[in-house]
Amino acid sequence: MLTRSMLPGVLKRLLHGMGDALFPANCLGCGQLFQHDAGNLPTAHPTGFSHAMAPFFCGHCRDQWTAVTSPLCSRCGLIFKSREGEDHLCGRCLDRPGAYTRARAAGIYDHSLKAAIHALKFKDKVGLANPLGALLFDTFRRYWTDGDIDVVAPVPLHRHRFRRRGFNQAYLLVRRWALPPGETVVIRDLLVRNRATAPQTGLDRRQRRINIRNAFSVSRRGQSAGRRVLLVDDVLTTGATADACADALIRDGARRVDVLTLARAL
Ligand SMILES: [Zn+2]
Ligand SMILES: [Zn+2]
Repeated sequence: MLTRSMLPGVLKRLLHGMGDALFPANCLGCGQLFQHDAGNLPTAHPTGFSHAMAPFFCGHCRDQWTAVTSPLCSRCGLIFKSREGEDHLCGRCLDRPGAYTRARAAGIYDHSLKAAIHALKFKDKVGLANPLGALLFDTFRRYWTDGDIDVVAPVPLHRHRFRRRGFNQAYLLVRRWALPPGETVVIRDLLVRNRATAPQTGLDRRQRRINIRNAFSVSRRGQSAGRRVLLVDDVLTTGATADACADALIRDGARRVDVLTLARAL
């Protein structure tokens, strides 16, 4: 079977505008070849994950994701196991509220959403940034209204990691957002990451907090003063990174810091 990867570059570019439907692609979830049929998309949720991911996942895998829904922790967005009742504070937020006001996410960090985030970050699938960014923007509009946020700020990478990867995925997710001009701005370098922290994977909550402490600072003093900031990242796990960022912004005078991620780890 003829696949896109077998074609020389010139031909690929020529055919690009003719639509991806001509060639089968490998599903980012199960790895199987599938035909992306642009005319046969699910229409129930035209801006949802399944729709946005149709060029990247087969029909089965693009439905393998779970949107975050209530009941959840009204602060950190933790999804409660019990699927009944109202949103309320979780035990951890009651004990130790931390620096940010509230965190929300589009979906649970598993299955195809996890695969899509991995492909964007580690497999250079930057074509995923716009559809994932659109999904994130939908989530933003769901929880925040116009005028709620002054500044959208991506969680930064340390410059070594940025150089290796070539992009900051958090910035790619927000750069196309249609924000009200003059009201809400994206500031790409509001924060800088001072230390190349060890990866957080495998660390418990306390270790993560220590590992990440003082890892961030503002790039220019007073830039967040009096402003309501929305921090954006790909995944929220324990919230240690978000808290360290929020702490730096609050110390700079930010009025409030909220957090939005594509995914929330359970
Ligand atoms: Zn698949
Ligand atoms: Zn909580």
